[in-house]
This record gives sequence, C-alpha cells and structure tokens, in this order.
Amino acid sequence: MISSRATTKVIVVGGGGTMGSSTALHLTRAGYTPSNITVLDVYPIPSAQSAGYDLNKIMGIRLRNRPDLQLSLEALDMWTNDPLFKPFFHKVGMIDCSSSDDGIANLKRKYQSLIDANIGLEKTNWLLETGEILEKVPAFTKDQVQGWKGLFCGDGGWLAAAKAINAIGHFLKYKGVNFGFGKSGTFKQPLFAADGSTVNGIETIDGTKYYADKVVIAAGAWTSTLIDLEDQCVSKAWVFAHIQLTPEEVKKYKNIPVVYDGEYGFFFEPNEHGVIKVCDEFPGFSRFKQHQPYGASSPKMISVPRSHAKHPTDTYPDASEETIRKAVARFLPQFKDKVLFNRSMCWCTDTADANLLICEHPKWKNLILATGDSGHSFKLLPNIGKHVVELIEGALPSELADAWAWRPGGDALKSRRGAPAKDLSDMPGWRHDAKI
Ligand code: FAD
Repeated sequence: MISSRATTKVIVVGGGGTMGSSTALHLTRAGYTPSNITVLDVYPIPSAQSAGYDLNKIMGIRLRNRPDLQLSLEALDMWTNDPLFKPFFHKVGMIDCSSSDDGIANLKRKYQSLIDANIGLEKTNWLLETGEILEKVPAFTKDQVQGWKGLFCGDGGWLAAAKAINAIGHFLKYKGVNFGFGKSGTFKQPLFAADGSTVNGIETIDGTKYYADKVVIAAGAWTSTLIDLEDQCVSKAWVFAHIQLTPEEVKKYKNIPVVYDGEYGFFFEPNEHGVIKVCDEFPGFSRFKQHQPYGASSPKMISVPRSHAKHPTDTYPDASEETIRKAVARFLPQFKDKVLFNRSMCWCTDTADANLLICEHPKWKNLILATGDSGHSFKLLPNIGKHVVELIEGALPSELADAWAWRPGGDALKSRRGAPAKDLSDMPGWRHDAKI
C-alpha cells in the first residue's frame, strides 16, 4: 500500500472539520499526491459548523486509558514543536479545581494517576492549596477561592481552535488539494463498485459524483445521520457563551491558566479582543427525531444536530443560561451582571465507552469512519489524521484498532457521563425562528 501513496485517491467527507482536516493534512505529509485528495464539507474550511470552529479549546493530558494517553502525548508534542501548530498553542497551564469533598478526592486520584503513569508528567503537575491558586490567578479573591484545591497542569493550556483548522486549510490549498464545499461538498450517499459492497466514491446532494480508492467519513456529529452507525454514536450539543471585558479588566486576566471545575464548567483567559469564553459542565443535549441514514432499512430515532451556522438565531436552552451564569458567578463573580453574547450550542458525538470510532465499515470495503469524538478530541487535531492514514494503509497499531473498532451495543446516550443527555425537545428557550 505504501508504495501506492502517490496514486491512491482519497475523499475526506467533513474535511473542513477537526478529524477531517487532520486526515487531509497527514495524507499530504505522508506523500499522497495532493491532486488525488478531495476535501468535501458543507462549509469552507474551517467549517462554520465544525465543533472546532471556536475561539479556544483546552489542551490537557487524558490518562483514562493507554490510547488516550498516547494520543494526548503525541498531540502535546505536535502542538509544542510542529511549526504548523505551534502558533496556536497557548501554554498557560490549566488548573483543575474543586471545593467539594468528592471533587477534591478526584483531583488527588488524578494526581496519583499522573505519578503512576511514570512518564515525567508529575514534574509539570502538582496539587495547589488555596493560596497557590491565588498566585496562579491573582484576579481571584481570597474569599472566592476559600476551600478550593487545585491540580495544576503545566503542560496544558488552550488552543486557538478555528485558527488552527484555518492554517491547515491554507496549507492544503497551497499544496493543491481539491475542495468541494456547499451543495457539491455535502455528502448524500456512497457509490459502489459492481460488487455492490466496495465503496468507490460518493455522491453529494447536488448530484456530483466523486470517485476514489478510499472514502473517509469524518463528519463529526453528523456522521450517524449520514451512515447507519447502529446506535454506536449519539450526537449531543454542549454550550458556551462569551463575555466582553474592558481593556482594564483584560489586564487582570491575561495569561492566566485555563480554570476548570467539573461541577461548574471552565473559562479561558480573554482573547485579543477582550472576549472570555465560559462553558458549563453537563451531560449534553440530544435532538432525537425520525431519520433514515444510508444503510438503515427504515427511518429510526437518531439525534440529529442543528448547527448554529445554519440556524444563526438558535441560542441555548433557558436551563443553560442558568448554569452558565452559575459558572460565571463561581469563576468571575465581578462579571456576573455582564451581558452574555454568542450564546451557542456546538455538536459532538459520544460513543458508549468514550473511545473514538475509527475503523473500516464492516460491510462496505474502503469506507473509513473517523468519528466518535466524545467531546474531547479537538486537542488531537495535529495527530489524529496520522492514525486515520495508518488505518487506510492497514497499518493502525492493534491497541488503537481494538479501542476504535466497530462495536455496536452499550449506552452512547449516557456514555461515561454522570447522566443520559436530556433532549432539546424538552428544553425551552433555544429556538428563535418559526417552528417547522
Ligand atoms: P467536527 O470538527 O464537527 O467536523 C465535522 C465536519 O463534518 C464539519 O466540518 C461539518 O461541516 C462536516 N459535515 C457535516 N455534515 C456533512 C455532510 N453531509 N457532508 C460533508 N461534510 C459534512 N475538545 C477538546 O479537545 N478540548 C476542549 O476544550 C473541548 N471543548 C469543547 C467545548 C464545546 C462547547 C464543544 C461542543 C466541544 C468541545 N471539544 C473539546 C470537543 C471537540 O470540539 C470535538 O471533539 C472535535 O472538534 C470533533 O471533531 P470532528 O472532526 O469529529 O467533528
């Protein structure tokens, strides 16, 4: 296979998003001929409906299992050293904090796992007492952080997300990769060779037919609406809002670590325009409706994303306004009366075990799925595509292949979160256009 890199044609559906753009990048880096690579998406790269189309995302190390740890460490190395990605990594550190007994016990367990992992991370991570949290974030007040404990991760920080995907887009254009966006980039169905089971291309909703040796479907939260994944992925929305700081206020928050509390949410230092993003932490919102993905024999209940890009008047449920305000009151009490703007939902897709779903479709040869992000995969932008290319070439290491295999069963609605997702149909407040 490796000898045919120069001649193998690959289509990447969802190539304007996180895993898709990374795949296209690694195809070019591995020596595939750029004019043999076709990147398709509903929106031009960086796709406005990608979960990665955002001001910032957390870069942290996941210790949950060996594949997660391996992937995080590879990503950390590339965000730190790869010239394409380096400009977008703000290594300000991250404080995982809590003031509840359970939360503090979790922080201690996590710290112990870092020591047990024995990969040097304990040198850049340490437990913080209240006073040390104040040193890291001088804008916090003593009263505010009374009783808090923190786990500081010096290797962490934040990633300028949409800008990083944009940089991949520029690189792909410069290399001469083919693009199809809009109706001629929007996947409709796979095309098959005469045997009826070998995929040899795809058709987009305007009727354009693209032919290739391999087709990668990296359509994020939309993947399960395009191809029947047998309920392995449930797509869910998470929410965020922005607050605007004055130049004086910005000075107090510049260069602080990302602050995260699993019972409240997280926030980032202000960006170059003085905007702070605040997220709450909750099990996500589903949007179930009758829908028939390709390969399903009849319509079935599927959680179908509804993007802010397509529905710009959508905000988030009233319940999210409360929880985001609660996070603001916890982290930034002096801003609790500030206007929240850009209040949005952003779509990811959970698997039951929170591992990725990166495998060849079991029935359709040459159709590669690269999805199941489970809400924690932006950080993998620099390296995930390398492993998709390994899969295309039949060279994915078995530990990764096993973790990411086709595996129906399990509860992707709850996944490994504290509770199943609530459905948007039960959550008033987010929809502001006419009901269809
Ligand atoms: P996406 O990046 O969403 O890409 C899917 C692409 O498919 C899109 O470009 C879309 O336009 C395209 N597409 C859809 N339908 C079609 C079609 N029919 N034809 C062609 N193309 C199509 N991760 C972290 O690592 N750190 C964080 O701090 C973090 N914070 C998050 C905060 C929020 C609020 C949310 C929602 C997510 C967060 N994540 C974070 C998760 C991360 O954003 C996702 O895991 C990751 O971006 C998913 O990548 P993906 O490639 O699977 O999907």
